[in-house]
Amino acid sequence: IPIERYRNFCIVAHVDHGKSTLSDRLLELTGTIQPGGNKQVLDKLDVERERGITVKAQTCSMIYNHKGDDYLLHLVDTPGHVDFRAEVSRSYVSSGGALLLVDASQGVQAQTVANFYLAFSQGLELIPVLNKVDLPHADAARSLEQMKDNFELEPEDAILVSAKTGWNVEAILPRVIENIPAPTGDPSKPLKLFLIDSWYSSFKGVVLLIRVFEGQIKAGDQVVSFGTGRKYTVGEVGIQYPDQVPQSVLRAGQVGYVYFNPSMRKTQEAKLGDTYTKVGFERQVQPLPGFEEPKPMVFVAAFPVDQDDFEHLEDSINQLLLNDRSVTIQKEASHALGAGFRLGFLGTLHCSVFEDRLRGEHGASIIITPPTVPFQIKYRDGREVTITNPAEFPEGDHTKRDIAELREPYVMATLTFPEEYLGRVIEICEANRGEQKSLEYFTATQVILKYEMPLAQLVDDFFGKLKSSTKGYATLDYEEAEWRESSIVKLQLLVNKEPVDAVSRVLHQSQVRHVGKQWVEKFKEHVDRQMFEVVIQAAVGRQVIARESIKPFRKDVLAKLHASDISRRRKLLEKQKEGRKKLKAVGNVVIDHSAFQAFLAK
Ligand code: GDP
Ligand code: MG
Repeated sequence: IPIERYRNFCIVAHVDHGKSTLSDRLLELTGTIQPGGNKQVLDKLDVERERGITVKAQTCSMIYNHKGDDYLLHLVDTPGHVDFRAEVSRSYVSSGGALLLVDASQGVQAQTVANFYLAFSQGLELIPVLNKVDLPHADAARSLEQMKDNFELEPEDAILVSAKTGWNVEAILPRVIENIPAPTGDPSKPLKLFLIDSWYSSFKGVVLLIRVFEGQIKAGDQVVSFGTGRKYTVGEVGIQYPDQVPQSVLRAGQVGYVYFNPSMRKTQEAKLGDTYTKVGFERQVQPLPGFEEPKPMVFVAAFPVDQDDFEHLEDSINQLLLNDRSVTIQKEASHALGAGFRLGFLGTLHCSVFEDRLRGEHGASIIITPPTVPFQIKYRDGREVTITNPAEFPEGDHTKRDIAELREPYVMATLTFPEEYLGRVIEICEANRGEQKSLEYFTATQVILKYEMPLAQLVDDFFGKLKSSTKGYATLDYEEAEWRESSIVKLQLLVNKEPVDAVSRVLHQSQVRHVGKQWVEKFKEHVDRQMFEVVIQAAVGRQVIARESIKPFRKDVLAKLHASDISRRRKLLEKQKEGRKKLKAVGNVVIDHSAFQAFLAK
């Protein structure tokens, strides 16, 4: 099939609008998969199937006969979620156009808007598709009007379908062929290959998903990365159809997979957005503009409840990292919780997906701290540091004198919801230190609201609060905006004057009182009575914000208790020796791990 009859396209949609279902229908229609068989073919990772979201870009090739000619179509699946914006952009770069898919019963939503602008700015040809027209409450006319108002897409250009029943899906591919331009590229030029994504296969090592822009690639070729300068020998090339089907060669315009032999050892070696060429042609090829590796903005710490499980935890984290290169990892030691890891993620969904998988393996035997964001500290001597662990936040008056400025990250959040919830949503945004930037009516009843707010507020279950006060109707997307100066302080929990390092948190001054009070009340419930008074405090530096105390046992009961207490203490010491199993000691107060867990749980 000549390059004029290739089409590379993707589907741009808000989550749940039917991207996976429609992909399945298109694959069936072209005979790529059998009807009624495996569902959601492109969602390869378990987590994607379970949570119904796409995390990794996938591709599937199809052959479709249009007016007597065979066409080679590559559907590049893209993550719908904002956390994976960098992955989305890479998918767009490798496509000539996109189906802009909108659920006719929901209309345009936050991610539709965000993805539209991303696709539009990359010059993709867009074909509007209205899905779920079989639903009784589908309102095609209104959705078409929204697309016209917001994206200047003409209602008469839209294709109405039901991906679920398959109704009218056959109208899509002829439009893809007629409206989306064929890729350009010359198979006789030196190789220019773009790396869209990579993942790990236990059989063959690192798999690269690539788009050939110029030239061709086959097994045995020696290639070199512009990003790292490393050289590799190509072991196998092929297309996903939908499983990997080896090909003798991949030519300019094609999207497919590549294995090196020997394989890359880590997915981290594959710099996403990197360009490769053949060894010897480095001077003749202009690499494509690369992509900035996305920076993690959401951090949690994970500790095994039982320190004996440390290695097991390390193994499972490393296993998960094989397929998720954007997670950062650092060892961390906490006085109260022992040795663990600090993990960095692109966003809250990314973080919670990872957390789910880790919990799936370790259940209740790990403690995961609530997510935090990075903070910047600018010192008077000009030094600037970014801290990702609240424990590293400077405290005490002597350090304050050295600090010129403290900053926290702000984002621009886009919210869409029915206008009856406007009052409530504004209330939530304002309570989360938001600043309103714009308020527009999409249609008579649908509002689009933009707020600048601290990322720290957003990660604090903002979406959960938003959903619950809009009956689930609100959608949210956000873009990184900027670092802003902020009066942030470190709140610490003290037990008998000793800080519990694992539960310190960096907060805005205005929230300290509220959170501090919550902390001491909550922690009190989980600490057993001791022989002595236990004082629980929340403090900023030396300033105590809130205080609770637990009275000691009364003298008369003390005598009776004494014996059992000694044996309990001895048991305890034994336990600590064999790896500080369940009980954590802070100062001389022994605290069951359930206290931390209950405390750290949102
Ligand atoms: P994705 O998140 O965009 O990949 O969405 P999915 O393809 O997973 O679909 C989300 C939900 O919508 C699933 O429960 C689908 O069965 C359902 N769905 C998808 N297309 C249609 C449709 O045309 N009609 C109806 N009624 N439901 C649909
Ligand atoms: Mg999906």
